[in-house]
Amino acid sequence: MFIFFGTRASLIKSKQIQGNFECSYCQNNTFNVSIYGRYFHVFWIPIFPLYKSTYLECTHCKKTYNLYETPENFREQLKKDNETAPPKRPLWHSFGGLVFLLIVTIIILSSTMNSF
Ligand SMILES: [Zn+2]
Repeated sequence: MFIFFGTRASLIKSKQIQGNFECSYCQNNTFNVSIYGRYFHVFWIPIFPLYKSTYLECTHCKKTYNLYETPENFREQLKKDNETAPPKRPLWHSFGGLVFLLIVTIIILSSTMNSF
């Protein structure tokens, strides 16, 4: 029997931002900031959320940057922006884990009800 499991990611927040640095390829300073939420899945059913990752894309030449490739002051700016409007994960990222907890709760409740 095959069990398909692993991690997947989905976009949870996207925003265009004026950076305080320039794209190394085209010297443009406007970027699309995309925050992805990664989750663990079994048979493509999300079980529990993992970490978030942030990527930047130059709006002109579409070159992508990891967050660690950007200057320190830009990361500070992005961190402050995320504190005022934090990127929230959708509830379905932990759907499988919630269903599992619900089933365990029902089993525990039904076993204690039967003992009376
Ligand atoms: Zn560019």
